[in-house]
Amino acid sequence: MAFCPNCEAEYRAGITACPDCNIELVSELTPETSVHDKSDAEPVKLRSFRNSAEAEMVSEMLEQNGIRSFVEGGEFAIIPSSFSQEVVVMVDERDFARAVELYEAFFNSESAPSAEEKTDNQ
Ligand SMILES: [Zn+2]
Repeated sequence: MAFCPNCEAEYRAGITACPDCNIELVSELTPETSVHDKSDAEPVKLRSFRNSAEAEMVSEMLEQNGIRSFVEGGEFAIIPSSFSQEVVVMVDERDFARAVELYEAFFNSESAPSAEEKTDNQ
């Protein structure tokens, strides 16, 4: 038995690729293999958040800029035991440097609360 890691369709043995998604099948669906778009790069942790709304906002912003990203943890938990309290934005390792730049630019322009603690008042 083989499964498509993208659409999770089941195929019988002998079939090696999903005709709908055009990607290689896996022998079993695990949280690892069912993560979308993991074909040739590892996802890496960009940053963790305390709530999924904020993490989702960042992930959406990154995707709008062409960064492959997804949210893990919170209500999206695929490994509930290890990330129960933490919501993590994961990005493709090839996009990591750009994701950090975008993230910082995004929060600098959005009046981040911590920016007011600057001590350059002389
Ligand atoms: Zn498929």
